[in-house]
Amino acid sequence: MSALLTQDVSAAAQALRAGKLVAFATETVYGLGASALDETAVAGIFEAKGRPKFDPLIVHVADVAMARPYVAEWPDTAALLAERFWPGPLTLVLPKQPVISDLVTSGLPTVGIRIPDHRVARDLIRQAGVPVAAPSANRFGCISPTTAAHVAEQLGDRIDVILDGGPCRVGVESTILLLAGETPTVLRLGGVTVEEIEEAIGPVAVSTGHGTDERSETSPLAPGMLKKHYAPRSRLQLCDDIAAVPDGPRQGLLTLMPPPDASRFDAVEVLSETGDLREAAAGFFAALRRLDARNLSTIWAVRFPEEGLGRALNDRLERAAAED
Ligand code: AMP
Ligand code: MG
Repeated sequence: MSALLTQDVSAAAQALRAGKLVAFATETVYGLGASALDETAVAGIFEAKGRPKFDPLIVHVADVAMARPYVAEWPDTAALLAERFWPGPLTLVLPKQPVISDLVTSGLPTVGIRIPDHRVARDLIRQAGVPVAAPSANRFGCISPTTAAHVAEQLGDRIDVILDGGPCRVGVESTILLLAGETPTVLRLGGVTVEEIEEAIGPVAVSTGHGTDERSETSPLAPGMLKKHYAPRSRLQLCDDIAAVPDGPRQGLLTLMPPPDASRFDAVEVLSETGDLREAAAGFFAALRRLDARNLSTIWAVRFPEEGLGRALNDRLERAAAED
């Protein structure tokens, strides 16, 4: 596959609607976008980037009206901040509606949402008519791209469309503000300052930890935030081979491909008949939830092949097994 490099917004919008991957310019860097309502498309983002784990992705919308159907609450503080700082580098983290894919939020009950300060990006999203989940359009570990040519170099053979919106202004990343608890909390410092936010809505807490990627593991807020990641109530145990699973009452099985014999299990979820990791990633959280609804004593999960999306799935499994 070779990406279509174009300035045609409507072609790119149509591709997004059709579940394709579309890179587009924002005011910060080029984003790699997919419909936030399409789990397979979102799985494709992680696959194309080669990310070894699932991070929550920021959802981009064209205007406030477009954000509202996807959040379960829209407090006055959100309205004030949106009025003041959108479009712009402020991401608001709010309780999500179920229609936003779990893969977008990495199983969190909240979604980070913002309006990019880039006309072409907003036109694209408005024409697509779907909220667009997008991390930076680079391969894992590589530099974030600020031109369409950078995107083509890194991802040209892995995505569908590159919408050339010219070079990015390369602002700072967006500030991320959690509006789901008692006190508004800055999770990442960025283009909108704490002072500006406080001037608009009063005092906020700041809990940014150290790095960016590892923030949720290292920040003081982390334990709480991590627990909000989806972890099953049943005990989750990992194995490499179901032959090694001891007999026991009310056991469930989560597996990539159909097992030769699953009669020992009370509930079985097969993620892909053909072993397709993208399909597996798209259905992963939903399958885990279905198993969890069965009141099992133990859910056994067979480790995924340690390659491509399999690595991110294994990382997610290990976290879910550890969170208790
Ligand atoms: P970026 O790398 O600029 O695309 O920002 C993505 C970052 O936004 C993630 O790594 C998270 O740290 C943060 N983020 C997105 N959604 C959420 C959420 N629901 N809760 C907390 N942090 C979020
Ligand atoms: Mg990045």
